[in-house]
This record gives sequence, C-alpha cells and structure tokens, in this order.
Amino acid sequence: MNATTIAPAADTIASPASLTNSTFAEIAQVLRRHDSFVVLSHVRPDGDALGSQIAIGLALQQLGKRVKVWNEEGLLEKFSFLPGGELVSLPPNDSEDFDVVLALDTATRQRLGDNVLAAIGSAKVWINIDHHPSNPRYGDLVHIDSIAPATGQILFELLRSQDLPLDEAIAENLFAAISTDTGSFQYPNTTARTFEIAADILRCGIDVGRLSQQLYESYPRRRIELLRVLLDRMRFDADGKVASFSLPLATANELGVIPEDNEGLIDHLRAIEGVIIAAFFEELEDGKVRVSMRSKDERADVCEICFRFKGGGHKLAAGARVLGTLDEVAERVLEAAVEAVKAIND
Ligand code: AMP
Ligand code: MN
Ligand code: MN
Repeated sequence: MNATTIAPAADTIASPASLTNSTFAEIAQVLRRHDSFVVLSHVRPDGDALGSQIAIGLALQQLGKRVKVWNEEGLLEKFSFLPGGELVSLPPNDSEDFDVVLALDTATRQRLGDNVLAAIGSAKVWINIDHHPSNPRYGDLVHIDSIAPATGQILFELLRSQDLPLDEAIAENLFAAISTDTGSFQYPNTTARTFEIAADILRCGIDVGRLSQQLYESYPRRRIELLRVLLDRMRFDADGKVASFSLPLATANELGVIPEDNEGLIDHLRAIEGVIIAAFFEELEDGKVRVSMRSKDERADVCEICFRFKGGGHKLAAGARVLGTLDEVAERVLEAAVEAVKAIND
C-alpha cells in the first residue's frame, strides 16, 4: 500500500503480472484501517451499480466510517425504494479528499463519470471491485471476478468472509444487485453459488416478493409508451438473427421519457426466437449514440464488438458510446453484428 496520494492507473490493458486479485482479507484490512471513503459506480447506473454502492455505503457507515456515495446521475427514481438510498448523492462542485476510493461494477475509470472524477481531490488508495472481463484493472487493490454474475455477489462474499456488517438493509441491496444483473436468475452467468447466496440473503429477512414487485412491476407508464414506439421501429438483419431498434432524441423528448426508462427494453428483442444478437441505439445529447448489445450465444461475443467501438462489458451483454449520427452508428454496429452471427457455423 502506498501512503502518498496515488493517481489512479490509466486505463491500459493489464500486464500478466498485475492479473492477481487482491484478496478479500487485504481489502477488508484497508476498509477497517481507514476513516474516510467515497463509493462510486458507473454512469447510467443499473441495479448492480446502485445496489452495490448502497450496500458498501451502509456497511462502512456501520463500521463508524465517514462515507460518501456518489453517482454521476444520483439515485435513480426507480431505485429510490432501496433502503439506504438516501446515501446516494450527485458529486459536489468542489473536490473532496478521501482516504479510500471504491470503484464498483465499473469497466473503465472513465465510466465513473466526468463530474464524479473531477470531485475527487486526493485519495490514498483506489479499490476496484468488478466482474467485467474487459476491466483494465485500474486502482491499487483490484479484485475482478468475471465468473461472478454481479458485483453484488462479489461484495456478498467479501462481507460474509471478512465478518463485515451484513444486515437486512445491506442484504436487500445485494439482492437487488444480483437479481437485476442475472435477469432474475435466468442468464447463463447464474451459478449454483448465486442461488446459495440468494438463499443466504433471504435468511437475512428480506421480503423477496415485495422487492421483486418494486424492481419489476412498478414501471412508469411512459416506459411502456416508449416500448410501443420502439417496437414500431424494430428492424431485423441476417435472416432474423440480429434484431434492433433505435431511439431518436426528439422521440424521447416528445414522450417525456428519462434515460432510466429504457433500461431492459432490449430484452424484448433478445426474447424473440431465432435472434442471436439484440442491439439498441439511443441518440444522446452530446453527439454520441449509446449502444447497448445482448447476445444469446457466446460465439457471437458482443463485448468484442463493443470493444472495437471503445466500449466493453461481457460476452453476452455489452455497450459503448459512439460518436456519430443515430443512423450512421447503427449501420456500423449492425454490420459488425451481422458479421459475428454469420461467422457461427451450427
Ligand atoms: P447496458 O447495455 O448499458 O446495460 O450495458 C451492458 C454491459 O456493458 C454492462 O455490463 C456495462 O457495464 C457494459 N457497458 C455498457 N456501456 C459500456 C461502455 N461505454 N464501456 C464499457 N462497458 C460498457
Ligand atoms: Mn452495472
Ligand atoms: Mn454488474
């Protein structure tokens, strides 16, 4: 450990020597020994990002630490029911100094967000805990487990094995993290260990029925109105093996939808028989297009496709932000997707 101020490592591809994960014991020691913490996760946070952030925020609070939990977008409306959600705030305008920065579930340092990164003054130690195989291992203590279906699952193992706080509120956040990143325990990344952990979490006293209703049956109506429009714009390529839809900024504004409304709508494309790759293109205000991709076959690796567009993620779920018009970006990405599905010989 370095006691002086350390600038986080640049996002470079890791050298083999740095591929060894820090142990949970090493991470726990740093958590116990320091006093001030900031807990971060990625822009456009999902359930794994916010659930992980809040869970660790609560655990550190219970250890008597000074803790800030920042997200570039703050706490999303749809996750506002999570216990401890009030811990999450937007980053402040003036920078603050911390002993420890914890980056969770975030494939690249840049994806922590410009405002978040600008708000961090000095930090003695950067901890990076994630499950994205494309993570370039930025930070001083790094634990990347690409087998884990959710960062929340890694955090459960950390808290349990190191006897760190794990009460009902923390458990509820970890369940939200794991449930959302496994598609309710359906994606192939779901392991036997995931179910064991889910059982353990239920024994902490959480109400899985209520929680699932809050997560999956409480969508605002405007989200379904958006789905209606997107289905109308649905497009198929490569004999139905590639399905996509795109959302122009003007349409999003007309419908009054907010960015969090479209998360998960891509699942409607993935759910179609014969579709191998699903893609969603969202026009952003900064002249870029947010690309979101899903695959049903590891041989059609969408992480590899997104990596070519400076994004990343997992083989079966990946994303990128690409400069260009909506149609231009869609054409280029779909071309790569068609090529990928055609390369599969059944
Ligand atoms: P999404 O389609 O936004 O739900 O993202 C799917 C997966 O890809 C998630 O695991 C993200 O962390 C990852 N991902 C999305 N966008 C990017 C990006 N611009 N760079 C790196 N990874 C990304
Ligand atoms: Mn995530
Ligand atoms: Mn995740």
